[in-house]
Amino acid sequence: MNIILLGPPGAGKGTQAGLLTQSRGLVQLSTGDMLREAQASGSAMGKIVADVMAKGQLVTDEIVIGLIREKLEQGGTGFIFDGFPRTLAQADALEALLAEMGQGLDAVIELRVNDEVLVGRIVGRAEEARAVGQPVRADDNAESLKTRLMAYYKQTSPLIGYYHAKGLLKGVDGLNEIDTVATDIAALLGAAG
Ligand code: ADP
Repeated sequence: MNIILLGPPGAGKGTQAGLLTQSRGLVQLSTGDMLREAQASGSAMGKIVADVMAKGQLVTDEIVIGLIREKLEQGGTGFIFDGFPRTLAQADALEALLAEMGQGLDAVIELRVNDEVLVGRIVGRAEEARAVGQPVRADDNAESLKTRLMAYYKQTSPLIGYYHAKGLLKGVDGLNEIDTVATDIAALLGAAG
């Protein structure tokens, strides 16, 4: 089965995607992780995206669609898309790529949270990392976070209506404990896949 996790920054997409890889053997495709890897590798593309990401803006559709295409072309079945698609153009591209593979989407899980909690989680994540001397994400600061939330509402949240219209959208309360959210997602996905 192929699933999208949708929600604003800090909603817990990465955490839940990680749990789904364990419980269902799905392959996690996180464009945020791919872009951070590109940055760490010092590749030309990594250099292009670094500034955009640090500001909290969206990287171009062309770049992220290219990254996803590369992964899907390696074949396989059973993907969990985390942080992708983030625009309608990306949603269209994903549908086309899956169709080429004779596959489709089974569900889009929206993690519902509120902004105050998001800010608290992200600021907390940065503080915890700092306290133990771990690297802090360049975009985990108040300024970038504001831009990331705006990007979510302007560019990504229209996907909620889009997937609802397609009959694929399922919502869970992302304010609950991690285990409860995971149980709720499992119940939504049921025995399918
Ligand atoms: P978060 O969900 O906490 O914002 P991500 O790791 O998903 O974290 O994304 C970090 C940054 O990477 C985004 O703010 C954006 O700059 C870039 N990015 C990730 N995925 C996409 C995408 N699908 N389209 C455009 N930019 C993306």
